[in-house]
Amino acid sequence: MRIGIDVGGTWLRLGAWDGRSLTHFEKLPAARSARDLAAAIKDYISRLGIAAESAALAIPGTLDATRRAVLNTPNLDLGGEPLADALERTLGLPVALGNDAECLLRGDIRVLGRGETGLTLGLSVGTGLGGTIFLDGKPLPTKSGVCEPGHMPVPGRRDPCPCGGVGCAENYVSGRRLLEIRDEYFPGEDVAGLFEKHAEHPALAAFLEDFACVAAAAATLLGPDLLILGGGVPAMPGFPREALAAAIKAKCMRPLPAESLEIVFSGGEPWLGVLGAALM
Ligand SMILES: [Zn+2]
Repeated sequence: MRIGIDVGGTWLRLGAWDGRSLTHFEKLPAARSARDLAAAIKDYISRLGIAAESAALAIPGTLDATRRAVLNTPNLDLGGEPLADALERTLGLPVALGNDAECLLRGDIRVLGRGETGLTLGLSVGTGLGGTIFLDGKPLPTKSGVCEPGHMPVPGRRDPCPCGGVGCAENYVSGRRLLEIRDEYFPGEDVAGLFEKHAEHPALAAFLEDFACVAAAAATLLGPDLLILGGGVPAMPGFPREALAAAIKAKCMRPLPAESLEIVFSGGEPWLGVLGAALM
């Protein structure tokens, strides 16, 4: 058995993988430090009462070149001692780390049965904005092992980003931004209902416009065969998927990639990152 862990900024998701499928899944409030994370995984394994042989984690941030340590997690504190070493000591198991967007895309590719070959771009909007590029089923070997669409600078914007930069796309296209919109315009409402009730509101229209710009910029740069849009935000009730896909295509260069680009939405299953971590 392998334990798959999706370390989110809002939720910590854990599952057990038997080599063919997930046999267990659960979701807990986010673990905000390396120590809390180790304790939560240890507790999960002992509660499940299984003989775990390894653990694999999807990390919402940048890993070092060895993929043993976390260089930057804008929404959590996982720096300091190499995280994989600390977890191996606490759990007594081999531990692998990967980027969360990469793991999510692995999960999506497996479930959708699409994107195993050719150039596939995955963008996921959850707490933050993540992304990754796969060529023939494998991540492109970039310096950090991933691409970071959420931290591409947006011209003219100067808001400070938790990563240390300013004007990063994630400040305008993320679950965090939706919380700000809720607090500013719809205080007291459940953020989950924003698109269902208020999709026409200028703040949400601007959110979708920014989302389309980031996706179209990435697609125009790369010319992927397939664009998979995932994460919790596009899975929200009432999220205007067709309108977003049309807006992305309208902003892509013509005739290519606009006419050839295929856009599919992830099923948004809450365990996709856990599955992808186990597959990684
Ligand atoms: Zn940033």
